[in-house]
Amino acid sequence: MRDVNKLVGVVFSGLSALVVEGVSDEGKVIRVSARTRDDPVPCPVCGRPTGRVHGFHGRVVADLPVDGRRVVVSVRVRRLVCAVLGCPRQTFREQVPGVVERYQRRTNRLADQLGQIVKELAGRAGARLSCALACAISRSTALRLLMRWTLPPLRVPRVLGVDDFALKRRHRYATVIIDAETGERIDVLPGRTAQTLATWLREHPGVEHVCRDGSGSYGEAIRQALPEAVQVSDRWHLWSNLCDRVLA
Ligand SMILES: [Zn+2]
Repeated sequence: MRDVNKLVGVVFSGLSALVVEGVSDEGKVIRVSARTRDDPVPCPVCGRPTGRVHGFHGRVVADLPVDGRRVVVSVRVRRLVCAVLGCPRQTFREQVPGVVERYQRRTNRLADQLGQIVKELAGRAGARLSCALACAISRSTALRLLMRWTLPPLRVPRVLGVDDFALKRRHRYATVIIDAETGERIDVLPGRTAQTLATWLREHPGVEHVCRDGSGSYGEAIRQALPEAVQVSDRWHLWSNLCDRVLA
């Protein structure tokens, strides 16, 4: 490929909604200078398209790394004048939909990729891997990106497994609810009281069998909320209790 502009178009194809005006090598950073297109944009209040420029703003956003280096995009966006008489919005700053969302400091495609990393690795490990991939984020940013994921709709299983686990041993506990047939995690509830589980069971009808540990509080919750459900002592706790007795 001889045409450098074509090469830029290939490497930064995700920025094709913008006009790329230049790419500069700044050592550890590759800077892409771009601007929005000259097309008219609808006013966010009245919807009438306008191309009348009032002024310009600069936005700097991080994009996917290239050549093992950070990429920042300096975008010149327009402040446009709404020509409709009486429109409450006299001027507005245009957005770059599909490339970067309002108030964000990363392009959508970088945010998506970082989102995948933190979904697998969460805070500390996600932040460490992001450094190695030349799109470094802090641990708290990693957690913020993780919290932005929309959760899949909650499915109520026919056979439900319930158990407690320690968030901080001897201090804070939580209850995990799984589909006992597939092992898929369904929900995590704060605390491990009968009340916590009973409330969840009442709000999510449809459970027919519940596998639980030998403690009384979950048994009580199931009796209160689902008197018809079959309670099953789960295999792990049965074996664990048996072994404790035999070895004692
Ligand atoms: Zn308007």
